[in-house]
Amino acid sequence: MRKLALVFVLAVLAPSLVLAWLAVRSVRDQQFLLERQQSLLYQGATDAIAQNISQRLSQQQQDFSAAVENLAASNAPGLIALQFDSDIRKSWPLADVGFSVILSGPATCTLACPLPTAGPAAQRFLVDNGGFLGNSETAEVYLNNYNSKAPSQKNTLVGDNGFGTNGYNNNNSQGQQWAQKSEPVPQQANAEPIGQNAQNKGKARSVIPQGANYQTTANQTDLADNNLSKVIPAEAEFRQLIGDGTDGTLARFLQNKLKIMFWHRLNRDPNYVFGAQLNLQRLVADLHDMVQPDSALTNEICVAILDDNAHPVAISRPGFHTVWKRPFVATEIGETLPHWEIAAYIVDPSRLTQAVCTETIILGLLIAVLVFAISVGGWLIVTDMNRQLALARQKTDFVSNVSHELKTPLTSIRMFSELLAENRVADPSKQRAYLQIITAETARLTRLINNVLDFSRMERGEKKYNVRDADLLNIVKETIDTYRPHLENCGFEMECVLAPGQLPIRADTDAIAQIIVNLLSNAEKYSNGEKKILVEAGRREGPLPCAEVRILDRGSGVPRGCEERIFEKFYRAHDSLSSGIQGSGLGLTLARQIARAHGGDVIYEPREGGGSCFALRLPLKMD
Ligand code: ADP
Repeated sequence: MRKLALVFVLAVLAPSLVLAWLAVRSVRDQQFLLERQQSLLYQGATDAIAQNISQRLSQQQQDFSAAVENLAASNAPGLIALQFDSDIRKSWPLADVGFSVILSGPATCTLACPLPTAGPAAQRFLVDNGGFLGNSETAEVYLNNYNSKAPSQKNTLVGDNGFGTNGYNNNNSQGQQWAQKSEPVPQQANAEPIGQNAQNKGKARSVIPQGANYQTTANQTDLADNNLSKVIPAEAEFRQLIGDGTDGTLARFLQNKLKIMFWHRLNRDPNYVFGAQLNLQRLVADLHDMVQPDSALTNEICVAILDDNAHPVAISRPGFHTVWKRPFVATEIGETLPHWEIAAYIVDPSRLTQAVCTETIILGLLIAVLVFAISVGGWLIVTDMNRQLALARQKTDFVSNVSHELKTPLTSIRMFSELLAENRVADPSKQRAYLQIITAETARLTRLINNVLDFSRMERGEKKYNVRDADLLNIVKETIDTYRPHLENCGFEMECVLAPGQLPIRADTDAIAQIIVNLLSNAEKYSNGEKKILVEAGRREGPLPCAEVRILDRGSGVPRGCEERIFEKFYRAHDSLSSGIQGSGLGLTLARQIARAHGGDVIYEPREGGGSCFALRLPLKMD
């Protein structure tokens, strides 16, 4: 038993508990997982929008180049260079100020346009950019060069330092981004390496994305903590920056204001570079329609384009307010709009918590149900094991009880028959008494053997009943008449109260007689005090009218708590050792099984004034 319990604990209980513990832990991780999932989903959305915006800007750049080529198609480049400012503003709506630079020699540039006389915008432009575009000053710029034909200008792609992860620029097959490791332009010997001083320029981002924590692994935490921008400026002269490229974007911050310039080198004469400073408001207006997230996410998040001060310039849900600096996720747009971000905000943050709660509750319930099922299963196994063990013990007891029951009558039969056979008893009355004992003991043996045989037949489902019309009163009378002499010989006083008339039933009379004999035999065995047995038979009106035989004794009665168990096979409330009463534990089992096979029952109730009352109830035969 102990071994079985140990196996059960090791093989079932312990692994189940470990699994339950793991499941509880996974429930705890659910929130993190769900938020991570959401964060990746929303990050994908902002990455896609940033990518689209980069593509749109690249398209704008191409439109600008086309506009320049268009202007140059009809006129000589020198003439176009002089009036480019006014021409480009007319033909290309995004231009605020147009400029033209004539390249001569390896490091000389002449700014041909705009002229200071062109107006206040042109004057401001010249103050801000005159030195830089004339190649006499360096400037800190963020640049995108397209169609660079100079393989010698091995500018390191930004993908190296992780730019590609946010999805901008790396989709642009023509785009290159300058980074810290840019090499010097060979044909400009006096030029400094582009971006050489950019090593420490990693500026903190203007936003602190909340979902970033879910996307980083432990060793990436520092990176996330610093929250540095991946868009890094390069400081160089104009010629050095444009190199041999044909198109490009230059972005710079002047008095903390972003200025964006597109430039294009004339196909016909590469010494002419035309450019335009963009009108930022018009550019943003053009991007307005791009802030919409995927339709599945429109109800979940609000997407905004944030400028370099984390102010929203376009949002997907008009009227939405939040702390703009703290989006759930955000993606930098890239060098064309440096330090501008596409940020996503959760519209209803409680929905996420609710979803986590629901998932946690469902998982918790599942775990509880599983643990409950395992416990109930375990309990059932243990109970069944106990039952099997008890049954095995009872079977062993049964064998010893039956052997003992066989031995006692056999001993007395042998002893008395030997006395009679050897003519050692002369007194005829004694001879008769001995013969009666032999008869009674033989009857006891027959009863015992019948019980055992019937029991095994019933267990195998082979017991057959010869059912016919009968009168229960008759069966009772006949059985008592047979049994009475034996009881009276043993000093019992027997009273029989039978109802008048008949109690018609349909039954196997022998089987019913066997029940009555078993009950009488028990009354005899367990009457250890007053030797009085009362048999009553009659009609019982009860909830359902039936025929009833009651056998009452004045013995010790059935111990409390065993009233039902005495009907179980092999069960004995008075064991042979302590009570000295022999038995097999089968008499009542058989009595009840036979009664139930006839549609009736055998029940026990304590007798008023002490003793037992066993009642056999059978259905009356209907006419
Ligand atoms: P047994 O061979 O042990 O008598 P039974 O199935 O006939 O087997 O009875 C089961 C148990 O019921 C007995 O062991 C005894 O404890 C209890 N019992 C049966 N009849 C009586 C009775 N008349 N008075 C008290 N206890 C009884």
